[in-house]
Amino acid sequence: MSQSTYNATVIGKIMITPDLMILRVRTDEPRKEFQAGQFTAIGLLAGESRSQNSVLPIDQLPPEKLIKRPYSIASAVKETQDFEFYISQVKSGQLTPRLFNLNQGNRIWLDTRILGFFSLKQTPEDCNIAMIATGTGLAPFISFLRSHIAEHKDTKVAIIHGAAYPWDLGYLSELRFIDSLFSNFYYYPTLLRYDSSWNGLHGYIEEHLESGLLEKEVGLEISPDKTHFYLCGNPKMIDSVSGYLLKRNYTRHSNKTPGALHIEEY
Ligand SMILES: Cc1cc2nc3c(=O)[nH]c(=O)nc-3n(C[C@H](O)[C@H](O)[C@H](O)COP(=O)(O)OP(=O)(O)OC[C@H]3O[C@@H](n4cnc5c(N)ncnc54)[C@H](O)[C@@H]3O)c2cc1C
Repeated sequence: MSQSTYNATVIGKIMITPDLMILRVRTDEPRKEFQAGQFTAIGLLAGESRSQNSVLPIDQLPPEKLIKRPYSIASAVKETQDFEFYISQVKSGQLTPRLFNLNQGNRIWLDTRILGFFSLKQTPEDCNIAMIATGTGLAPFISFLRSHIAEHKDTKVAIIHGAAYPWDLGYLSELRFIDSLFSNFYYYPTLLRYDSSWNGLHGYIEEHLESGLLEKEVGLEISPDKTHFYLCGNPKMIDSVSGYLLKRNYTRHSNKTPGALHIEEY
C-alpha cells in the first residue's frame, strides 16, 4: 500500500482534550446515503507519524501496512461526502495516535462501505427513545439527532451521556442547544470526577436508571412496548445497563428477533 491508497482529506480537527477529538473528513467521491448509527472504517499507513503524547505499541508494523478500524459516523445522514467522527486516543494503539497527529489537508483512507445494524430508525413511530452513551459512544446519537430529531415531535427522546471529567463532554453545547429547541428532548450528562462548579448529575449511568431518572424527569415508561433503548460505548456500562433492562422484560434486538434493546459495543 502507498499514499495513493488514500481517498479522502482531513477538513477539520477539533481537539476537545489532548486525547479526544472531532475529526472531519471529505471523501474524494460521495458515499451512498447511510442510516444514523452506522459506522465506516478509517485507515492510515503504519509509516505515518504518531502523536507526541502517545506511547509505542509492542507490535511494530511494516510502513506499507494500512491500519484500519471502525468508527461510528457522527454527521447527518444526508452528508455523504463530509463525514464527522468523535475519536478518543488509545495511547498505545496502532491507529488512533496516527489519527491524532493529522492536520487539516492531510490525506487519509475511508472505506467506501458504510456498515452496521445499530440503526436508530428501528424504533416504532409511537415509541420513545432512550440513548445511553459513554465517551465517544455518543457519536451515533449525534448523527441521529442531526438527521431525525425534528421527525420525532410526538414522542420523547432522551440521552444520558457518561464521562469522567467536565472537559470530556464533547458536543455539550450542541446537545444543550437541541435541548433548548425541542421540548420533547432531554439531555443528561453525568460525571465521575467534578468539582463544585458542576451542577449537573454525577455518578454511574446505571445508578440514575435505578433511581428512576427517566421515569421521574422525562416521564418515560421503562417498558419494551413504550420505550426503545440504544446503548453505545464502554462494555462495562453496556453489561450493567443491559442487566437492568433485561430484568424489565427487554430483549436484545437482532435481525432475526426484533427487540427494544439495541447495543453497539466499542
Ligand atoms: C462498530 C464500532 C464503532 C466504533 N466507533 C468508535 C468511535 O466512534 N470512536 C472511537 O474512539 N472508537 C470507536 N471504536 C473503536 C475503534 O474501532 C478502535 O478500536 C479504537 O479507536 C482503538 O484503535 P487503535 O488502533 O488506536 O488501538 P488498537 O491498536 O486496536 O488497540 C490497542 C489496545 O488498546 C485496547 N483498546 C482498544 N480500544 C480501546 C479504548 N477505546 N479504550 C481503551 N483501550 C482500548 C485494545 O484492547 C488493545 O489492547 C469503534 C469500534 C467499533 C467495533
